[in-house]
Amino acid sequence: MAVEVYISEDQIKNKVTELAYKINEDFAGQEIVVICVLNGAFMFCADLVRELTVPINMEFIKASSYGEGTNSSGSIKFEVDVKNNLAGKNVLIVEDIVDTGLTLTKIMEKLKAHNPAQMKLVSLLFKPSRNRHPVKIDYLGFEIPDKFVIGYGLDYSNRFRELPYIGIFDEDN
Ligand code: 5GP
Repeated sequence: MAVEVYISEDQIKNKVTELAYKINEDFAGQEIVVICVLNGAFMFCADLVRELTVPINMEFIKASSYGEGTNSSGSIKFEVDVKNNLAGKNVLIVEDIVDTGLTLTKIMEKLKAHNPAQMKLVSLLFKPSRNRHPVKIDYLGFEIPDKFVIGYGLDYSNRFRELPYIGIFDEDN
């Protein structure tokens, strides 16, 4: 088993700064509710919010797909939900990776029902070749090929989340 560094710690740091800069500009003078999508986005979100200069409220949401094995085409179950009403608020969803887009589509549907003033999405990673449920990513870190990545919050069987970089997992080496 080997892990190949795919996006280095420095590349991630620079990207987080770049994304935070755009978010700070777009939301200047406003307050935002940052919604961290658990579990994978915890590290990205923690780094991102430390670079935000606009006032924020933190919320957490966790959705898991079930019924269709590992290929996320099934249904979504919410295990953690936001605690406050988002009516009239500026919402920023923070996600680690958009793969098929199913999870985000369901999360956004649920959050839209609150009638927020606006809802934006920041995702560190996006796999365009796998996308089946189009979601608008307002702030994107990196487009990646169809490879299974780990680290910087992302897991393989709940391991490797602590790695400070994004790696490609190779089970055979
Ligand atoms: P989607 O609903 O967009 O297909 O799936 C999104 C979720 O699948 C992500 O939040 C993540 O938990 C998981 N996922 C998709 N691709 C990868 C990957 O390459 N590595 C890891 N660790 N998780 C992934």
